[in-house]
Amino acid sequence: MFGVSERSKGLAERLTAFMARHIYPNEHRYFLEAERLGPWAIYPIIDELKPLARTAGLWNLFLPEKESGEGLSNVDYAPLCEIMGRSLFAPEVFNCSAPDTGNMETILRYGTEAQKERWLEPLLAGKTRSAFAMTEPDVASSDATNIASAIRSEGNDYVINGRKWYTSNSTHPSCEIIIFMGRVQPEPQDPHHRQTMILVPRNTPGVRVVRSLPVFGFYGAPDRAAEVMFENVRVPKRNVLLGEGRGFEIAQGRLGPGRIHLGWSAGYGVSLCAERKWAASRDRHAPRRVAAEGSRQRRIRKDVRAARRAGLRRSRHGARARTWQGPDTLLAARGEEMAGAARAAPGGHAPQRDRPGPRFLRPSRAHRFW
Ligand SMILES: Cc1cc2nc3c(=O)[nH]c(=O)nc-3n(C[C@H](O)[C@H](O)[C@H](O)COP(=O)(O)OP(=O)(O)OC[C@H]3O[C@@H](n4cnc5c(N)ncnc54)[C@H](O)[C@@H]3O)c2cc1C
Repeated sequence: MFGVSERSKGLAERLTAFMARHIYPNEHRYFLEAERLGPWAIYPIIDELKPLARTAGLWNLFLPEKESGEGLSNVDYAPLCEIMGRSLFAPEVFNCSAPDTGNMETILRYGTEAQKERWLEPLLAGKTRSAFAMTEPDVASSDATNIASAIRSEGNDYVINGRKWYTSNSTHPSCEIIIFMGRVQPEPQDPHHRQTMILVPRNTPGVRVVRSLPVFGFYGAPDRAAEVMFENVRVPKRNVLLGEGRGFEIAQGRLGPGRIHLGWSAGYGVSLCAERKWAASRDRHAPRRVAAEGSRQRRIRKDVRAARRAGLRRSRHGARARTWQGPDTLLAARGEEMAGAARAAPGGHAPQRDRPGPRFLRPSRAHRFW
């Protein structure tokens, strides 16, 4: 139904082979390192595998066709995103993980040449990481017009004050740049022109990463959600993205594709759980459970296919961000159901993280709130 290019098919083959050789065999190690080292550290397995992925040409696959000569269309990226989505740590190995992908796209699309040289180049090279500070604990942040943090003009600088949370990645030692969203004072009448996005280096005085936030009891792997305070943070006006009052417009451009990418990844996490659950029921000689599982699997696979088609159709027709919430929300719901079921199938092995059920249950459940 949706023809992908020969280039995308070739990349999918190479990606699948890389996953089999380097990603799946190291999943257990990844979770051990994440648990042992915690959300404020770099995990050695990631640093070992990144150069291999880059040498293999499986790097920055998310780059959009429109802005980058080497990039892919959303339709071509979809199958690759799905393959990476079968493991929670794979996207970072290929430099394709959120929130860096959305941040890189934002700087690529809306940044000045100087901003690109300073912040985008090291991100594309995988040397640094980044965070996106939009959500605030005190306002309903799913509507970006509500964001209330203050950006006050003072001469050639802006002075920023606000409290953010779920600022993913900000506990990562390599996180050097934060895209901050707030309101310029005095604020314009039109709610869609109140928001501004600005680049804030993480080491600017007044930026304080307060704590890592547990997501359903787990810290850091792989999202590193965190609370961040911005207290009288001073940044030069040249750090503004696109222009004062253009933050809502950027949010629409950034978050729409982000949700679609997440939906694709979630879809294949679901499929992986389905496959492994099936295998676990079979291996444990539970014929009645295998039979019952058959009908549930058929329904879930049907939903996954429908959500996938809807996502592809929408990315193809360039629909607006708000209308994209359908397919990825459906996938997240099915993901949660499937991961929950997959968790039960292996009996006493169930709560271990090396089973896909528990691993995907947490992100797919969290995904329903985004
Ligand atoms: C693991 C994780 C990582 C995240 N990473 C980031 C990040 O890197 N950067 C960042 O800025 N944010 C991040 N977020 C935050 C996420 O984007 C927000 O939680 C999301 O946008 C919802 O905003 P909120 O939490 O303020 O909820 P609210 O906006 O208060 O929404 C709560 C509920 O009310 C519903 N609702 C809201 N308004 C209405 C309405 N008018 N009518 C009907 N229903 C409504 C929503 O659909 C939702 O179900 C992350 C969240 C999680 C869980």
